Amino acid sequence: MSQLAQTGQFCPNPDCDRFNNTQDHAIIKHAKTKQGKQRFRCKACGKTFSENKGTIFYCKQKTPEVIIETLLLIAEGNGIRATARIKHLHPGTVLNWLKEAAAHAEELEHLLLEDYRVDRAQIDGLWSYVGKKRPKRPPRPHPSPGKAPVGVAR
Ligand SMILES: [Zn+2]
Repeated sequence: MSQLAQTGQFCPNPDCDRFNNTQDHAIIKHAKTKQGKQRFRCKACGKTFSENKGTIFYCKQKTPEVIIETLLLIAEGNGIRATARIKHLHPGTVLNWLKEAAAHAEELEHLLLEDYRVDRAQIDGLWSYVGKKRPKRPPRPHPSPGKAPVGVAR
């Protein structure tokens, strides 16, 4: 099963042998940035990286890139079946990733918007497959038509 790996659980350096490996705990906390963000350092390759570097998918069988590319294809308007065919995946796998992505929508939106230049409408298109509504928009009350407001009669 795939899961969303948080920064500090894996090494984001593709050249490192701990890349995409959340099991080995090779990542240690490093000094903070000027903005107060936690930095991390990989004990294997010695690279440091910041908190924002990669909240990404982690899947035992696939690299994060494959998962992100798959989501991007869907965001660009390809259907789940078409996307699965392009990436040589099972449509159920693609759907699972979408559901997983929706469960971590906030982190993933951040990643897609900032690192992959995906626009809002495309992200909304992604979520529409899994019936996820955009978060953080309070429901607007619908005043029932034809009813006078209570308490203003004179
Ligand atoms: Zn490393």
